[in-house]
Amino acid sequence: MPTWSTQQLTEYFIAVNAAPTEDAAVALAVERAAEIVEAEVGVVVLAGRPHGAWGLGRGAPAPALLTLPAAGAVVDLPGLGDVHAVPSQLGSGLAGALVVGRLDEPFGPEERQTLQGMAQMLGAAMRGARALAAEQTLRAEREREARLVETLLAIQRGISARRPLQETLDAITGGAAELLGAQVRLVLAGDDTSCPAADAAMRSEELYVDEDAEGLTVIAVPVLAAGETAGALVARVSGAEGYHADQVEAFAQQAGLALTDARTVEEVHEAHHDHVTGLPNRALFLKAFHDRDRAGVLFIDLDRFKAVNDSLGHDAGDKLLAAVAGRIRGCVRVGDTVARLGGDEFAVLLGDAARDSAVATGERIIAAVREPFRIEGRSVYIGASIGVALPATAGAVPDELLSCADLAMYRAKKDGPGRVVVYEPAMHAAALHYLSLRADLQRALAGGEFALQYQPLVRLDNGTVVGVEALLRWNSPERGVVAPGEFLPIAEEAGLIGDIGQWVLASAARQVAAWRRRRPGLTLNVNISGLELLRPGFVEDVTRTLAAAALPTSAVTLELTESVLMSDPKPAVLALNRLRARGVQLSIDDFGTGYSSLAYLRDLPVDELKVDRAFIARTQLTGRDMALVSTIMELGHILGLRVVAEGIENQAQLDAVQRLGCALGQGFHLHRPMDPAAIPPLLDAPPLYRAA
Ligand code: C2E
Ligand code: CA
Ligand code: CA
Repeated sequence: MPTWSTQQLTEYFIAVNAAPTEDAAVALAVERAAEIVEAEVGVVVLAGRPHGAWGLGRGAPAPALLTLPAAGAVVDLPGLGDVHAVPSQLGSGLAGALVVGRLDEPFGPEERQTLQGMAQMLGAAMRGARALAAEQTLRAEREREARLVETLLAIQRGISARRPLQETLDAITGGAAELLGAQVRLVLAGDDTSCPAADAAMRSEELYVDEDAEGLTVIAVPVLAAGETAGALVARVSGAEGYHADQVEAFAQQAGLALTDARTVEEVHEAHHDHVTGLPNRALFLKAFHDRDRAGVLFIDLDRFKAVNDSLGHDAGDKLLAAVAGRIRGCVRVGDTVARLGGDEFAVLLGDAARDSAVATGERIIAAVREPFRIEGRSVYIGASIGVALPATAGAVPDELLSCADLAMYRAKKDGPGRVVVYEPAMHAAALHYLSLRADLQRALAGGEFALQYQPLVRLDNGTVVGVEALLRWNSPERGVVAPGEFLPIAEEAGLIGDIGQWVLASAARQVAAWRRRRPGLTLNVNISGLELLRPGFVEDVTRTLAAAALPTSAVTLELTESVLMSDPKPAVLALNRLRARGVQLSIDDFGTGYSSLAYLRDLPVDELKVDRAFIARTQLTGRDMALVSTIMELGHILGLRVVAEGIENQAQLDAVQRLGCALGQGFHLHRPMDPAAIPPLLDAPPLYRAA
């Protein structure tokens, strides 16, 4: 007799299908089904395991039920006795059955059929729930995947936007932690955080999985940057490791990219920037040039930087350069690029090609650099000379534009310093002239193109020749006779002055030693450039050369200009003292034209003053000029120095210097500089005149 109603079956169907989960559906189905057929026990067996057991007491359901008894079998259940059991298959795809057991009455065919129906309904509901759950998992997984991709993309954007490395790495660990619900950290090679998992991953360069003391899975993935192991990304998670390892690997890969990128950026920055000032270097500057069409350029060279660098030291020099870079940056406009070309040279690539604004920018820079710098507690004063090149006159080829600006700067330095000069094509011709002159000069010494003339030094009281000044001449096959004023600065710049100077001294010493056989007291004056004086070994070379020529050191006076003594006084004075100690005499040439104070004369080891011809020329003019010259001569006498009046060009000048009590003179009016052959007759000649 069926005990159920259609109503009950309908309710069963609705309830099972409405159950929120598979487990809930099973529990509900077992209970309702047992109720409907008035069974004492019920259970769903899936793969040999009980689900939703009902009425079986607290213990586990008897194995006899779980092994699925044949329909209608009687099963002895402990604590309950014999029950009639009916298993009903759940249906396709589900290896399981709904099993119910009743104490008294066996199940009739109708009941079995109903139970079968209920089992199949349950099966269908379970499949539905499973599909739903699978779909939910899938959706959750897709969402997680989408979030992973989203996070990785955000990190990627951070990397390509050159966000600070630490920010990117934090985003990676943070993103991984959020997505995995895990503790994540990045261990970098060289970090001294003790993390065995990270160490293992780095050593093996492979994924390393372990379980920690708290039972969490530790996943460590090596982070590779630029082909080498840079660290490891470590995640501590609960749950299936395999699932997470992929994602940890994805984040580790991002960390590797970020690190590689940061290194590349750093290397690129390093290769293209000057580490002292942080400015772009020449290479990057020229590159920036190529990216800009028709722009002007400033070439900046600091004045007096070398002196600061030499006296305050390299570190202070670097600090000064960095400070200069900052000031230059403060003077340019948005869109201008400042670079350090090397040494104390900077350049500005202008945003446009306008002449006026280029010059204005240059003048701003000069004014800014002229302000004192505070370096290591001292005030430091320097300056800048600037050349400007514009595409209109200098073309648009970067290297050429830059070298034109360099030429203009060179001119600015010569005319200035502290000027802005705009390049003009004529400067190019001048530079070519300079370069070819320099090339010819390099061959001149070996080619025997140098010669000496000698200008007598005369006793003014009687016109006797007491000595000669050697004056260098260059007989260039291509150019004819070139004046020393034209080629000596180039010889100094080209580093040729040392060899030339030695040749002058050796030739003149041999010559004067020969003349002294006829006139024993004859003296020799030789001009020395400042570069020569400061050359190591100069003092020894001079004494050796004079000894080789058999000319006593006391017969020789070296002439130096005031500027030489003032620009670098300490080493100069040192060398002068050593020369003086060897008997060589010293003279200050062109005296009065320099910026030295007369007071310093006292401290210098000097024997002679050569009063510049500019003063001698003025002796004819007013009484005031006369007073000036007389003061200079007076001073010389007070200091016990020999005074020589240079450039006596006429009788009036000769008379004037004689009246002023000047003992020695030199000048066209007395004798012009002459070839050596013309000197001996002068030595034999009687005195030119008697003092007035
Ligand atoms: P300085 O040492 O002042 O030489 C005197 C210059 O004045 C010479 O010019 C000489 O020819 C010229 N002079 C002499 N008397 C008169 C005169 O009455 N009126 C005028 N207007 N000029 C007169 P120079 O030979 O052209 O030499 C120019 C400069 O080149 C020299 O000036 C000297 O500083 C330098 N120099 C010449 N030879 C040498 C050398 O062998 N070594 C170095 N380092 N410098 C040299
Ligand atoms: Ca001289
Ligand atoms: Ca002179």
